Amino acid sequence: MNQCSPIRATGDRCRATALPNRPQCFAHDPENRERATEARRKGGGA
Ligand SMILES: [Zn+2]
Repeated sequence: MNQCSPIRATGDRCRATALPNRPQCFAHDPENRERATEARRKGGGA
């Protein structure tokens, strides 16, 4: 399995495993981030 590609400002690589067919983990995948933002908006966490 791949490792998430983003490297943090500290120089550490994200330790999460990348999603299948994706270079990033769930947290760093742009699509998921968009979806999460939308869910947050709809869910009304604030
Ligand atoms: Zn990641």
